Amino acid sequence: MSEARMKHHVKKPFKEDGEYILYWMQSTQRVENNFALAYAIEAANATNKPLRVVFCVARAFKDANERHYAFMLEGLKSLSGSFKRIGVDFQIEIGEFFEVVQSHLPKAAAFIMDKAYLRHLRTLRRLLAKEAEKHSLYTVEIDSELIVPLEQISDKLEYAARTIRPKIMKQVDDFLDEAIIRPLNIRSFQKPKVVEMPLEDVIERLNIDRTVRKTHYFHGGEKEAQKQLERFLEEKLENYHESNDPGKHANSKLSPYLHFGHISLLTIYKRVEEKIANNEVPLHAAEAFIEQLLVRRTLSFNFVWHLEGYDRFETMTHPWAYETMNVHVGDKREHLYTLRDYEKGETHDPYFNAAMREMMETGHMHNYMRMYWGKQIILWSRDYKEAYETILYLNNKYFLDGRDPNSYAGVAWCFGRHDRAFQEREIFGKLRPLTKNGLKRKFDMDKYIAYTKHL
Ligand SMILES: Cc1cc2nc3c(=O)[nH]c(=O)nc-3n(C[C@H](O)[C@H](O)[C@H](O)COP(=O)(O)OP(=O)(O)OC[C@H]3O[C@@H](n4cnc5c(N)ncnc54)[C@H](O)[C@@H]3O)c2cc1C
Repeated sequence: MSEARMKHHVKKPFKEDGEYILYWMQSTQRVENNFALAYAIEAANATNKPLRVVFCVARAFKDANERHYAFMLEGLKSLSGSFKRIGVDFQIEIGEFFEVVQSHLPKAAAFIMDKAYLRHLRTLRRLLAKEAEKHSLYTVEIDSELIVPLEQISDKLEYAARTIRPKIMKQVDDFLDEAIIRPLNIRSFQKPKVVEMPLEDVIERLNIDRTVRKTHYFHGGEKEAQKQLERFLEEKLENYHESNDPGKHANSKLSPYLHFGHISLLTIYKRVEEKIANNEVPLHAAEAFIEQLLVRRTLSFNFVWHLEGYDRFETMTHPWAYETMNVHVGDKREHLYTLRDYEKGETHDPYFNAAMREMMETGHMHNYMRMYWGKQIILWSRDYKEAYETILYLNNKYFLDGRDPNSYAGVAWCFGRHDRAFQEREIFGKLRPLTKNGLKRKFDMDKYIAYTKHL
């Protein structure tokens, strides 16, 4: 594995008297192309010790609710089956991250974590690394979520897709080696209790919002993610260049799986490359998809990594965007809606209401509709800060892929981040305007409305 994927927090030899190699899994909830797992297995085999993978189901997690937990728990059940096959000692515990992981450190021989990108998750890793240092425990964090490791791409906040694209593309071929999951020398497995319990009982033990119920449109787990990918490759990829049209249903709907780490970018990218190599897909369609998957997604990770205030209205966008918002903050708003109006889909705009229905029912929303949806909330809020907070709140509450680097970058995009200035107009100022008439003119919106009515 490339050294560029590894951040060594504590450099010490593996402890001979340690009982197991410890991998705390959080962001990368899968086996395939999980570089942290591959490294942990290598370490276990090198020391002839078992591998213990610990997963903490946090009793409460900011903005996460029953919908998110149900999806994640489905994934853990499937993971438990995979770990049984390869002989990993898989421990799932309900509790607080720090306490749960800390309790496994004293008897470990080495400590491996998967990389996190958001602020609070990075802090947690720093704190755990400090704790591991007290035990003189070798500690490493491994980047499994991006193809080109984040810190290898750029050491600064990138302005837009055009500035980061060449930096990714010139290195991508150097990082196409897959993670090799070798058999374990010392096998050890006990089915975690959480996996045996009915979902309801696990959720009962948590302190989470239960009003946002599980969605029946997505099922979590590595196998489900693979199925979703294959369906997309077979049925939709060839039309991806038209995927901005919400009536065409040409998107992959892979984002929930990417968010929970049920599938890796590398797996998806390599399957698309195979399709290209076998002439099974028009090149322009495949390239349009790779642009989103690789360039846009990585740009979001760069955004949250290099901008401390990625989730605060006052800091999330460019100076030109704040200037134009300051000029237009007093513009008259024709409609003002409350959160309840949005959640009930009761605005004057049938397209917006349809998008809200998609979000509330399925936990997902079409890519272009997310842009339209965010832009309309700007038009219908008292001021820009209120709009930002409303969009982010709804985004993270209802989307299965919410609370992702893409969430913060996507919402900031509505306010000019990673975008350019447009001709000035009411309320939007120089922010890119997206309007109902534009939507009607460009796309088959009746089809989209018909689709959301049946959800
Ligand atoms: C206001 C707003 C909020 C958003 N909130 C989220 C969010 O909470 N979580 C989330 O994952 N994405 C978010 N996005 C980005 C994008 O809309 C979704 O990633 C995409 O719609 C997911 O659906 P899909 O998997 O079918 O995408 P596809 O069109 O099939 O694209 C494949 C993959 O490429 C990546 N991708 C596609 N479009 C973008 C984009 N504009 N920026 C970054 N990566 C992209 C995603 O990982 C996606 O899964 C948001 C965008 C906006 C404008």
